[in-house]
Amino acid sequence: RRAAAQTLKIGMIPADGIGHEVLPAARAVLLALGSSIPKPEFIDLNAGFEYFTRTGTALPEETIRVLTEECNGAMFGAVSSPSRRVAGYSSPIVALRKKLDLYANIRPVASVSGTPGSDVDMVVVRENTECLYIKEETQIMTPNGKEARATRLITERASRRIGKMAFETALSRGKQNPVLTIVHKSNVLSVTDGLFRETVRGVPQLEEVQGRYDGVKIEEQLVDSMVYRMYREPATFDVAVAPNMYGDIISDAAAALVGSLGLVPSVNAGDNFVMGEPVHGSAPDIAGKGIANPIAAIRSASLLLTHLGHLEPAQKINDAVDAVLREGKVLTPDLGGRSRTQEVLDEVLKKM
Ligand code: ATP
Ligand code: MG
Repeated sequence: RRAAAQTLKIGMIPADGIGHEVLPAARAVLLALGSSIPKPEFIDLNAGFEYFTRTGTALPEETIRVLTEECNGAMFGAVSSPSRRVAGYSSPIVALRKKLDLYANIRPVASVSGTPGSDVDMVVVRENTECLYIKEETQIMTPNGKEARATRLITERASRRIGKMAFETALSRGKQNPVLTIVHKSNVLSVTDGLFRETVRGVPQLEEVQGRYDGVKIEEQLVDSMVYRMYREPATFDVAVAPNMYGDIISDAAAALVGSLGLVPSVNAGDNFVMGEPVHGSAPDIAGKGIANPIAAIRSASLLLTHLGHLEPAQKINDAVDAVLREGKVLTPDLGGRSRTQEVLDEVLKKM
């Protein structure tokens, strides 16, 4: 799976707000890698709330067709979530994850020495297709009032593939002693979380992986103590894997450890496709001002490359970003600086 992709056909979906300001930065760093990667071909694609208000559709068929038929990767900017329910609108990012079977949401949270949260260097691998988020909810009226229930789905298949993705992630970081922490609550939910835990634990023994993960140490953490320990001793974590809802919560908690949302990247990954996406939203309060921090998008482009098997060029981007942060001279306002998006991009390009 990690053989380097020979072509880079990348769908670019800026979507809303600062997505339009940070995606060009991701494009620029990929182009700046020159011949160390296959020449990237970018295809601009529509989606998002702005597009919906103009056309009545949030995710055009053409975007899905181009992504599935022509691209091996994509970069997504950000969608604005309308504060009230809007008839006919549903999030294009959720739909894209489904249509492209992007079953893993991977979020590295790291920071550079001398900057806030400097001893954090972890990755959260979140299962993205099941758990409580299958949205099977019912409500009935009983003699004692309303009663609501939700179904929680955990399957061996989904747990196994997210487990493999997590072990791959642990290996890809090039650490001396990789550790994978399985996050669960099987002391209470012994059937569902028990299945998740057992299945992930069993991945290294699968015949098809041929001992590939034997060097990865497995640890476990109950989800509540996971959050506690992430705040008390964040440096102790390497890669964490979790079912959808716990993963949702701990990945935001992890992002908070390093300060600005403008720094944290992610990818949505499946077996045949990967989509980079900064963790932040469309930031309507600063959109159009040219001051959005492009680093989350730039790091997402680096992650995209990692998943397409181009590890060294990906590292080159990360090293350049780290150098800019460590120097601390050219920073956007969210990090206490006075520089603009373009100036931060130029500085990253200079370091590359
Ligand atoms: P959305 O509905 O799109 O999520 P939001 O109002 O929740 O919009 P976010 O994008 O989630 O906005 O951002 C939350 C806060 O963090 C905002 O104040 C925003 O300006 C700031 N922020 C987010 N991303 C960045 C960035 N890349 N650079 C600078 N500030 C950012
Ligand atoms: Mg938001």
